[in-house]
Amino acid sequence: MPTTIIDGVALSKQLRQEISNQVAHCVQEGKQPGLAVILVGEDPASQVYVRNKIKACQDVGIHSILERYESDLTQAELLERIAALNEDPRVHGILVQLPLPPHMDSQLVLEAISAAKDVDGFHVQSAGALMTGLPGFLPCTPFGCMKMLESLVPSGQPFDLRGQHAVVIGRSNIVGKPMAMMLLQRNATVTICHSGTANLSELTKQADIVVAAVGKRNTVTAEMVKPGAIVIDVGMNRDDEGKLCGDVDFANVQNVAGAITPVPGGVGPMTITMLLANTVAAARGLV
Ligand code: NAP
Repeated sequence: MPTTIIDGVALSKQLRQEISNQVAHCVQEGKQPGLAVILVGEDPASQVYVRNKIKACQDVGIHSILERYESDLTQAELLERIAALNEDPRVHGILVQLPLPPHMDSQLVLEAISAAKDVDGFHVQSAGALMTGLPGFLPCTPFGCMKMLESLVPSGQPFDLRGQHAVVIGRSNIVGKPMAMMLLQRNATVTICHSGTANLSELTKQADIVVAAVGKRNTVTAEMVKPGAIVIDVGMNRDDEGKLCGDVDFANVQNVAGAITPVPGGVGPMTITMLLANTVAAARGLV
């Protein structure tokens, strides 16, 4: 069987068309979905991410508000802005771009966002909802990974991972942990690996699904992957030539895997797509 390359650009395009239709429907009902993005400081990568998010909003018809502040903004001033946006009826989703300057407590800032507008899914209430199986916003990156896995299911069949062993490498609050919970909800048997895991390759070799969310290139090599396994690469790194690459040795792993996401063109576009989906869901009161 040839390897399936899971095309995040194509899947995003299809999903963004559906989102665009939903936005049009909301507008007809007099409620244009709105997303406020707050950027503090001059981090170059954050500026690119924010620009891409604003552009994606424009493309699907979501009203976007970009608030940019110098890095000397005080935490109290930022909390004041968030409080105002929490009350603003035109704003259905609020996103504070991370990382924040070192003088700010990121978790405290994220908790200040109303849980009803937490479209990044980083609020402790969203995390708790995911943990307990209650409705809540799902963090966009693992949500996008789940959509990619779902895209492999033949139409008409349920998206059920029972009997499958998923190995998630990474345990961050924004990717690894929520990814593991979402896989569990779909009945996968889940192993979470991290920097303290011994014999990582012994575990990945048993996996039907490998999700790499580490931030180090070549963390997953061909010898570590069971033939036919699905490999989802969340990592965003630079190779020796400065080109974007993931955590997976794509050139070699693609010869072993049954399906694999590329970098770029894989998880990255899906993350923004799920942000748009969460914003529309917030406007429609679906979460
Ligand atoms: P993070 O907070 O730095 O977490 C990395 C995780 O990898 C940690 O849990 C760490 O373990 C684990 N780890 C480090 N070295 C390891 C090793 N040798 N073996 C096994 N596990 C190891 O990173 P993150 O925020 O989750 O992001 C992970 C990657 O995804 C980054 O490259 C990031 O840029 C990328 N990312 C991409 C998107 C996207 O849209 N495509 C979105 C978010 C993140 P410990 O917990 O023990 O330290």
